[in-house]
Parts: sequence; C-alpha cells; structure tokens
Amino acid sequence: MKTIGFMDVSTNIGCKNMCSYCPQEKIISRYKGPKMMELNDFKKCVNKIPKNIRITFAGMAEPFFNNKCMEMIEYVHKEGYELEIYTTLMGMNPNFVKILEKIPLAYFEIHLPDDSNRTKMKVNKTYLKTLKEIKNSKIKNIHYQVFGKVHPKAQEILKFEVEDLSRILRSRAGNVKGFKEINHSGKLICPIAGKFLKNNALLPNGDVFLCSMDYGLEYKLGNLLSSPYESFFKSEAFKRIQNAMNSQSGEVLCRHCAYAKKINSPKYIIKKMLEKIGLLDLLYLTTKNKTMHKIYLLFYKLQKK
Ligand code: SF4
Repeated sequence: MKTIGFMDVSTNIGCKNMCSYCPQEKIISRYKGPKMMELNDFKKCVNKIPKNIRITFAGMAEPFFNNKCMEMIEYVHKEGYELEIYTTLMGMNPNFVKILEKIPLAYFEIHLPDDSNRTKMKVNKTYLKTLKEIKNSKIKNIHYQVFGKVHPKAQEILKFEVEDLSRILRSRAGNVKGFKEINHSGKLICPIAGKFLKNNALLPNGDVFLCSMDYGLEYKLGNLLSSPYESFFKSEAFKRIQNAMNSQSGEVLCRHCAYAKKINSPKYIIKKMLEKIGLLDLLYLTTKNKTMHKIYLLFYKLQKK
C-alpha cells in the first residue's frame, strides 16, 4: 500500500538524553498527561490510523525510554503498517536486535554519540554491545547519523566513515535558541507533510499535533483516544493552519521551519519539475558519489553565505 503520510509517535515525554539541540524544557513545561504512553492506549490509537499512514517511532523523545516500545513496534508490524525507527539506542535492550531482524523496517536511523557530547548519550557497555549487534545484524535500511565526529568508542565498532551532519541542525521551527531565525513569507508547503499535512505527532495522552516540530504544543488537531483520525483534517485548528500556510504572512509554525518551502519560489518549481519527469531521485543518487557530494557541499556552503 502506498504511504500517503506519517504518524510520528512520542512514546514518552521528558527525554532523559537532553541533547544540546533539542528543546526538551519547552515540551516538558507545556505537556499535561501521563509521561509514558500506556501500551493499551497506544493500541487504541493505532487501531484508528489508516494503513497507508506510516508509523514512525521518533517524535519528541527517544522511543526506547518507554519500556513497552518494542511491544509497540511488534504490534504495529503485526497490524500491517509500514514503520520507521529513529533512535539513539538509549533504553534499548541488545536482545531487541534479534526481534528487529524479523521486522521489515522502511527506515532505521541510528543517532550516534559524538566526541563533543552534543547528542548526550551514555556510551557504556550495554550501548556498545547493542551498537555492535546492530552493525552485525541482518536489519535492513540502517542509516547512521552524527552531529560532529563519531565518539571514538563507537567508531572502533563501526570502522567506517559517518558524515558529520551538523550543517543540518536547525532551530526546530524556532524552538531552539542560538540558530539563525527563519521567517518565511508567502504561500508555504511542507515537503514532508504535503498539502494535506499528514505528518502528525502523537503524544502519550493521545493528543495529536501538526508535527514533531511543535514543541510548544500550539497546533493541536485533536485526540486520537477520543476522536477518529479523519476528524483532525476537518477541525477548525486544521483549517486555521492551512489558511495561514496559503496566505502571504499568516502566523503558523511552518513560517519558522527550515523544511517549509515557498510554493512559488524558483527552487521549488524546479524541484517539482524534476520530480515529475523522474529526475529528482537520479539527482539524489549522484550525490552519493564522493566527488558529486563534495560539489553539492560546496554549493550548499555558497548558498548559506
Ligand atoms: S513545521 Fe516544518 S515539518 Fe512541521 S508541518 Fe510545518 S514545514 Fe512541515
């Protein structure tokens, strides 16, 4: 079944990692409800989500800090959904690796520890054992990500180069201080959520928000424990968000988000054209080539100046 959107699950609130680029204080101060998602509540919520919505375990906290996370993943798989996991491996038991090998993950992103402790993880024996088992596992679609240089102990296990992606760190739609402010004007679109805004964030109390950039919890679409999924996209909140995005300057989270694109900008029009004629994927593939990647990074730096 073709994926038409995503539901990003925060299995817990108040991530113990407290990474330097993540606005945890903001969500902790605004959120009301159980800090850990109950397995039964999770199942009730999932049962209301259409099968063409991909469930992603990521959200606004490390998913495995909820000790029911593995059971949640197994449930989602058993019910026939596509799924993705984004994790620092904190809270993950090395025994989970064997279970994950049997689940076809659409994407499995591992955030690695760095040498300057930006991603604040405990690089202890359990962590290193889990990382080693994952590296040697049959799990498909693994992607490693690091902001800085890989921590030497993790590097000893991986033994291959992982690109420093510090350049993609952003303010999370204006929620993290110390980054360049973004204030888009004009009509906007979210390339991830599309015009129907189906890239939403589910919290442990069943509340569903626009997306996982909404650390201030200001754009609530509804509650999945008490309402059907479809109702979110008919809600007043949803219409307000869409109207603001379709206006020249209406206030909405996306105006401050690095992902948002101006609908009529030449860059967006060219991208759409390439996508239509099937060249975008090809262009993306060429950036995997080392020389092309260097050229891409050069353009990226020039564009930022
Ligand atoms: S805030 Fe960013 S990620 Fe969220 S819907 Fe808007 S553009 Fe997309």
